[in-house]
Amino acid sequence: MAPIRLELTARLSQALGLFDHVTVIDPEVASDEQLERLHDPAYVAAVRQFSLNPVGSDPERGLGTDDVPVFAGMHEASARIVGGSMALADAILSGDAEHGVNFTGGLHHAMPAKADGFCIYNDAALAIQRLLDNGVERVAYIDVDVHHGDGVERMFWDEPRVLTASVHQSGRTLFPGTGWPRDIGGEHARGTAVNIALPPGTRDSQWLRAINSAIIPVVQAFDPQVIVSQHGADSHIDDPLAHLAISLDAHRYAMDTIHRLSHQLTDGKWIALGGGGYEVVSVVPLSWSHLIGVAAHHPVPLTTPVPEEWRIAVKELTGREAPTRMGDLDPNDGPIWVQPWEMGYNPHSDVDRAIMATREAVFPLHGLDVWFT
Ligand SMILES: [Zn+2]
Ligand SMILES: [Zn+2]
Repeated sequence: MAPIRLELTARLSQALGLFDHVTVIDPEVASDEQLERLHDPAYVAAVRQFSLNPVGSDPERGLGTDDVPVFAGMHEASARIVGGSMALADAILSGDAEHGVNFTGGLHHAMPAKADGFCIYNDAALAIQRLLDNGVERVAYIDVDVHHGDGVERMFWDEPRVLTASVHQSGRTLFPGTGWPRDIGGEHARGTAVNIALPPGTRDSQWLRAINSAIIPVVQAFDPQVIVSQHGADSHIDDPLAHLAISLDAHRYAMDTIHRLSHQLTDGKWIALGGGGYEVVSVVPLSWSHLIGVAAHHPVPLTTPVPEEWRIAVKELTGREAPTRMGDLDPNDGPIWVQPWEMGYNPHSDVDRAIMATREAVFPLHGLDVWFT
């Protein structure tokens, strides 16, 4: 979670001219009262204490661990990210903005009383809660980070107003070890948790097929008033922490799909967040610049050369060579082909079986046909 990935993203988006098409805001630090809508007050107090005096650890609350080291100012930094995502919720409800992006957010592993997986406060869940507190009746949360969106799912597990859908590398081989197809929500909210657990090595067309065939129909049936999406870039083939084989081009495809869905279902009301992503030079800044481009209605073509000024800054800041193009795939190979489910199901494919397991678990609860939707 090196801060360099955020700086490089901002600089690349700037160099691509994307900030000319958006309003950049400087958000407030979320108040304790706001954080305590979903976080335990004793947990917030513990984070504050370490923020002032960053020594020692509190393993029970996940603080001062390998994944979440304590550091001076950690409360303010984390609560400001929440302030950003909550400001987007407000802007979307007031109509000041149609779409909003907080690429510093998407900290989906934070639990009510515990930090985990590099996440301290759960800005995604708090933005959703802000929407509910302001009268929104149905929010769909779509999480395409390579890890299961466990914190957001936990906070709304038994909340029928929030659909949480996560496509991730199976917990059998990756942190946090949860997110199974039969985890479908609590007794008052059956079918409002959707989990697709994909095998390591899953590729573009299969990953997008999983999103299109097991998440989109459920979101459509749920008929949300706002969509919140989390775009962790760690599904990428070059990510050092996970084992899916996804390209920047497929990231863009998923962003376009969710963007279109917002115009179809929610009158454009869409909050898009960042998330994980540990290849901080060649993947994260490019992926999230695409996200800003899509949300700003100035999508960056995948064949666009990476701006030279940014490549020089990368060399200076990291000593590494930056990529030269905004996409991974050879444009001569044509667009990614995503086979619609109604064209057939391959029982010999690990990925198709994973998709089918999710469809069988949740589709009937939404009145959807497991075979032909
Ligand atoms: Zn739009
Ligand atoms: Zn992740």
